[in-house]
Amino acid sequence: MARIDDIRAKVEAGQRLSFDDGIFLYDEADLFDLGELANYVRERKNGNFAYYNVNTHLNPTNVCVYRCVFCAFRADLKSPKGYVMSDEQILRRAEEAAQRGATELHIVGGLHHQLPYDWYLHVVRIIHQAQPRLHLKAYTAVEWDWFSRLTGRPTRDLLAEFQQAGLGSLPGGGAEIFHPEVRDLICEHKADADTWLRIHREAHQLGLRSNATMLYGHIETTAHRIDHLLRLRQLQDETGGFQTFIPLAFHPDNTKLGHDRQLKKPNILMDLRTMAVSRLMLDNFPHIKAYWVMLGVPTAQLALSFGADDIDGTVVHEKIYHDAGSDSPQELTVDQLRRLIEEAGRTPIERDTLYREVVRSETSWRTGRTIALDLVPA
Ligand code: SF4
Repeated sequence: MARIDDIRAKVEAGQRLSFDDGIFLYDEADLFDLGELANYVRERKNGNFAYYNVNTHLNPTNVCVYRCVFCAFRADLKSPKGYVMSDEQILRRAEEAAQRGATELHIVGGLHHQLPYDWYLHVVRIIHQAQPRLHLKAYTAVEWDWFSRLTGRPTRDLLAEFQQAGLGSLPGGGAEIFHPEVRDLICEHKADADTWLRIHREAHQLGLRSNATMLYGHIETTAHRIDHLLRLRQLQDETGGFQTFIPLAFHPDNTKLGHDRQLKKPNILMDLRTMAVSRLMLDNFPHIKAYWVMLGVPTAQLALSFGADDIDGTVVHEKIYHDAGSDSPQELTVDQLRRLIEEAGRTPIERDTLYREVVRSETSWRTGRTIALDLVPA
């Protein structure tokens, strides 16, 4: 039996794929065979639906003690590019989001040299008090690890304290590539793989849901990527707390790593392969996201047939990938999001952060059914 037929039989039987299967799919499988298999799993889990949400990004500061070589967003403490948003600016952004009908605020930023732990907590608290309906998806595991270093307190306590203040869930950033052969070269100082995974485990144990990411298309090998996916799959087996996996294509502009001649640099074929392999290897993740800001709109549309079932949201005020050269728009309207999903042959459905259907009237919105469980035919 050809290798791809062997893997197809496993996928159709709902059997788990191995590390070697993942390497074969990435490096040798025909792209269309791979896409067909990923699409099979995608439709088995999510039918013909493709999800989007109405959200806004907030990056309260870009000043960062770390110097990850792939990052174009960070600034030194005294750099003219550096900023720290005032309470007024933060609350204005949140109010603007709520008035636009956003259901979620995505909050991540730098690890400021001088700001205390209480400031990060204050940001969440004042937004939650002012706009209690906005779901606050805040701070990556790297930031939680930094808060622990600032305070000397365990991350589990800090997560619980933020939960009281209005934290709704954790974004998936900061995962990059877990394997130390890569991680030590691209972001040696920040939270290592075990720390990243431990913090997500603790969040899940507290009842918080989270997402996961992988930054691909730089110095990593196929083996590093499959290793990354398997570490996530293992934690998901344990907790079931991950909602979405988001493969993030590396953007080299304005980064130190961008000068590396060995750089692979993502192209559309790598994007689609990564999406499809992720869908197949992460058999216990309900959703795979084609983040249109990173991929660009046409690739995100194609990805909806290569394993992805979500394209993220309206976004608004995205800085991190635009600083690194992303030429996608800053914002898509709901009509644009729905149209690009329909053009890809899928049925658009608005979700909130926790994948409940959002039902809108002229002036308001409410959450409805949990989508993946209730709406997809068995
Ligand atoms: S990726 Fe995050 S931690 Fe690394 S330099 Fe950029 S802002 Fe700082």
